[in-house]
Amino acid sequence: MTDLKRICVFCGSNTGSRPAYRQAALQLGALLAKQGLGLVYGGGNVGLMGVLANAVLEAGGEVIGVIPQSLVDKELAHHGVTQLRVTESMHERKQTMFDLSDGVMALPGGFGTLDEFFEIVTWLQLGYHAKPVGMLNVEGFWDPMLVTFAHAVGEGFLRKEHSQMVMVEAAPEKLLERFMEYSQPQPGKKWINHR
Ligand code: AMP
Repeated sequence: MTDLKRICVFCGSNTGSRPAYRQAALQLGALLAKQGLGLVYGGGNVGLMGVLANAVLEAGGEVIGVIPQSLVDKELAHHGVTQLRVTESMHERKQTMFDLSDGVMALPGGFGTLDEFFEIVTWLQLGYHAKPVGMLNVEGFWDPMLVTFAHAVGEGFLRKEHSQMVMVEAAPEKLLERFMEYSQPQPGKKWINHR
């Protein structure tokens, strides 16, 4: 069992083309607040990021935004959050978001979301941490990514057990439940050919 205090959520700076994406961010935000879990996120007031942060705030929860100075300067920062941390760089932002949280989720998003989430997954695979990681598969948004995982496993670039470290659920309640039940993996071998 993991003692969770704050969850880091990476998600799009756009809301996407289906209403379900916004809906999922609203649901997850309300759920985090209800469970007494703080949100750590990218600090913006745009896209799914803004929807999620506002949902947590409206439900009385804690929101920590972590944003690089360059994005604050573009006046895109959310100034109504519980705490806004301004970093020098994108790298420092990612590290800070990770350090402040006990688990990491990805909602639908683009390159930013992919970059941020998969760096944390890579750290897990290498045994640098043992925090739960998961993707909220809203209306099958991540299905093509799951096909890519299976392809990488089939082609000998990814261990099946590593691909299974990423929890995938369609419903926020279910994903959060799995985060709560999660127990830390035994450190395994990263390298496929070095047995
Ligand atoms: P994407 O998934 O490509 O939409 O990227 C999400 C990422 O966009 C965030 O984590 C940030 O790196 C970046 N981003 C874009 N606009 C903002 C904003 N207003 N505030 C914070 N981050 C932003």
